[in-house]
Amino acid sequence: MIGIFGGTFDPIHYGHLRSALELKELFALEHVRLIPCAQPVHRDEPMANAIRRLDMLHLATANQTDLIVDAQELQRSGGSYTFDTLTALRGDYPNVPLLLFIGSDAFNDLTTWYRWQELFDLAHIVVITRPNAALHPLTDFFKARLTEDKQLLKKQLSGHLFFQQITQLAISATAIRGMITAQQNPRFLLPDAVINYITQHQLYQG
Ligand code: ATP
Repeated sequence: MIGIFGGTFDPIHYGHLRSALELKELFALEHVRLIPCAQPVHRDEPMANAIRRLDMLHLATANQTDLIVDAQELQRSGGSYTFDTLTALRGDYPNVPLLLFIGSDAFNDLTTWYRWQELFDLAHIVVITRPNAALHPLTDFFKARLTEDKQLLKKQLSGHLFFQQITQLAISATAIRGMITAQQNPRFLLPDAVINYITQHQLYQG
């Protein structure tokens, strides 16, 4: 099984990294792919450009072979759609179950995503819980796909919805950007190599 963890990563921080590693171990995954979105469709433009965000991902995951940076959304033009990303991965891995990880905040908006119902034809969706995010009640569409049987995710390539609690670190990229703009030290919230890169390129200075 392969895990897919998308985001703006503006910048990547230990909330992302710790979750990705914990999920890799919880589901005994071959690897987790961290996929930065080039042009978000559902939120504001990131502050750092896509190349900078990609560089920071590479710095954060150096020597961590089970976390793979996948830049495919930067290689496509136009908006970044999870449907396109999963379609490409399904082509690359025709016989491997794919787990799409999304935070509960993002899951609450899933029905606004491009071709969202078809995401279940391509992957399982695993919702990871996040501090302060309450879940909306599940509709029949989701109830029909919900499972509590982790083994089922391994046996089928796609199609199920699973909820996974993970250790929650209350770290957000928004808070980190705010600290940097306010000239506070964000150390221990994200890797030093990423902080050095931010300083070098004067990102998030306001
Ligand atoms: P921002 O503050 O700019 O919204 P963010 O910190 O939420 O950024 P994103 O890049 O938007 O980071 O998130 C990518 C994915 O990581 C999302 O699915 C999000 O729910 C999840 N995520 C972000 N921070 C954490 C955290 N501290 N713990 C667990 N999951 C997280």
